[in-house]
Amino acid sequence: MEPTAYLESLRPAGSKRSSKRDLIVNVFLRQEGHLTADDLFDLIRREDQKISRATVYRTLQWMIDAGIARKVDFGEGRFRFEHSYRHPRHFHLICKTCNHSFEFLSSDIEVLLEEVAAARNFTPGQSVLQIHGTCEACRTGRPAPAEAGATSLVFARDALRIAIATERSGLEFYTRAARVAKDARGRRVFEKLAEEEREHLATLETRYRELLQQDRQLEAHPTFLFFKGAANGLFSAGAEQLMSGVNDRQALMIGIRCERGSHRFFKRYGERFEDSEGKQIFLEFADEERAHLELLIREYRGLVERQRRTPARAAKRKTRRAPASA
Ligand SMILES: [Zn+2]
Ligand SMILES: [Zn+2]
Repeated sequence: MEPTAYLESLRPAGSKRSSKRDLIVNVFLRQEGHLTADDLFDLIRREDQKISRATVYRTLQWMIDAGIARKVDFGEGRFRFEHSYRHPRHFHLICKTCNHSFEFLSSDIEVLLEEVAAARNFTPGQSVLQIHGTCEACRTGRPAPAEAGATSLVFARDALRIAIATERSGLEFYTRAARVAKDARGRRVFEKLAEEEREHLATLETRYRELLQQDRQLEAHPTFLFFKGAANGLFSAGAEQLMSGVNDRQALMIGIRCERGSHRFFKRYGERFEDSEGKQIFLEFADEERAHLELLIREYRGLVERQRRTPARAAKRKTRRAPASA
């Protein structure tokens, strides 16, 4: 949904359009970064001399209530405001020299915070993490990298990078699993999944290229989303396990674990993001992983059933194949 359509949807039916409010909201949404109420007031005054400070303050509060703006406190003794519409909650690096703040998000930090809260039987609400220090530009005198035009694009870029990395390691996993599978039907399942991963990978890569066309500088922006222990780690660990001589049931079980972990990871992170393309990417990816998971579970059950019905033949096949696979 576009911001204007979104704003329309917030307006109670039949309420009169407030042109002052629309102006303030539009000016706010055109800015990136973290504005004080006075910064916003100065910007509004350039466009309309008649709007009072009180109206700007009131509208800011309205934007917070409506989920368009978020209040942040960098310890300067006054609040700043940033977008929250299509803008995920994040952490900040704050430069004490130039007062710039730089945004980032880390799943590893969030997982850790949740672990700490759970261990203390604490229900976590909002977490605020700020790193105060000196930015690269202030420290070295080199110009700062281009300020992101829109965080939502950088967020989508990083979400796509994570999905692509996960897809690549999934492809590697299924290619390897198809190689080690002894059961013909099991092998076909792994080959089919490898084929699907290849297709999804191509789709994601196309989407990534399309995204880059929206902003030529997009790749130059610093990383926003840090995912050290992301879901692609699951598949690489699974691929390692495959090499330690597993049977088909075990191979399917490892695949199930990887897909379940991946599905949960993308769903959990996707759901906590505000409406954005990055969120869409995560949720769509979570759905794909769930489809793979369901397929693997069906195959696992089928294999167990086949082995139960024909234990003798399965055993014979095993002994016949053993020398070849050794
Ligand atoms: Zn600085
Ligand atoms: Zn921020």
